[in-house]
Amino acid sequence: MKNPNRQASDTHNVSTGHVRIFDTTLRDGEQAPGFALDPKAKLRMAQMLEALGVDVLEAGFPQASPDDFAATARIAETLREGTTVCALARCRDGDIDRAGRALEKARRSRIHVFISTSPLHREHKLGMSSAQVLDAAVAAVERARGLCDEVEFSAEDAMRTEPEYLAEVFSAVVAAGAGTLNAPDTVGYAIPSEVAGRFAWLRAHVKGAERVVFSCHCHDDLGMGVANSLAAVSAGARQVECTVNGIGERAGNAALEEVVMGLKVRANYFGATTRVDTRKLNPASRLLVELTGQPVQANKAIVGRNAFAHESGIHQHGMLRHPSTYEIMRPQDVGVDATRLVLGKHSGRAALRKRLEALGHAPDEVALDDIFARFKVLADQRHEIHDRDLEMLARGRVGRTLREVAA
Ligand code: MN
Repeated sequence: MKNPNRQASDTHNVSTGHVRIFDTTLRDGEQAPGFALDPKAKLRMAQMLEALGVDVLEAGFPQASPDDFAATARIAETLREGTTVCALARCRDGDIDRAGRALEKARRSRIHVFISTSPLHREHKLGMSSAQVLDAAVAAVERARGLCDEVEFSAEDAMRTEPEYLAEVFSAVVAAGAGTLNAPDTVGYAIPSEVAGRFAWLRAHVKGAERVVFSCHCHDDLGMGVANSLAAVSAGARQVECTVNGIGERAGNAALEEVVMGLKVRANYFGATTRVDTRKLNPASRLLVELTGQPVQANKAIVGRNAFAHESGIHQHGMLRHPSTYEIMRPQDVGVDATRLVLGKHSGRAALRKRLEALGHAPDEVALDDIFARFKVLADQRHEIHDRDLEMLARGRVGRTLREVAA
């Protein structure tokens, strides 16, 4: 057994408010159609994730392909700052041994073994009885235990598994040496109150629960991946599995940036912290977009182009008076340079005046009325008014007022 004392030491104290961020961008995220990354791109992203401060980085599924093995091994030997490198394995000897080999050079390694526990999956996917699934889970954890620093066990489709059976499997794998128990909502079916109830129940019924970390892994099929993850945290989960930009199978996973900022902005509610450097959230998001070629929607929370942009006059007026009127976090805290006050047809005089002043113009009230009138007409024709347009408007070179247009 490799370094058996490590597991009990620092990272598994459930009584603290420290929530571990388990990033699976390079495994679950990369599995989605159109998101495949070559080993070089994966290594670049892994280094960004290490700088971001994720606790555990799931680098791949080494048994899936030679590239996945190579990428996992490369990441394992490169990361040196304390991020645990994790590899996924089914409960099969070949998968586990291959994961162990890929992680050999890691400073700190974790094998993540999984097997389906729900009745649907047991019958239709595995063709195994509940007793057979339990035996396979225990054997896999025991085998993995000898090949890495720490073992995580996932009960695939846990949220649709009978609670008593799930607790029985979890209790058995804890006795076999698993340090993290993951109860995923594999198909994105659960709702927050159910998730919270399930985690609280499991923590009360799994034997040895006080020695392990409970983890959630929520998919976004109903748009509740982040809400479900935060519900799990409120019920005692101390690891959240998530991905940058929320990428992942089907509708994706819980978005890392939303989970982290949810915990940070609402620290008064959750009383929990992560070690993520939130100022790197936007750089990490942009790097992933660059590497995958897959854009983020403009209105995406935290990392969307419009997440800190305001166009409406009423909101801009408030923002100019005090940023807290319409922003619950500072853009700088998530790595965005500044709030963007976009000038468009919804904007008002206050924002126009502010922008003109920044450009060196000081129009009096009469001049501002005239510029504002021509600005509104121009703004109806375009989505966004840029500084160049404002210069022209201020110098009286372009545009007509609505009255002039009508005349
Ligand atoms: Mn998943």
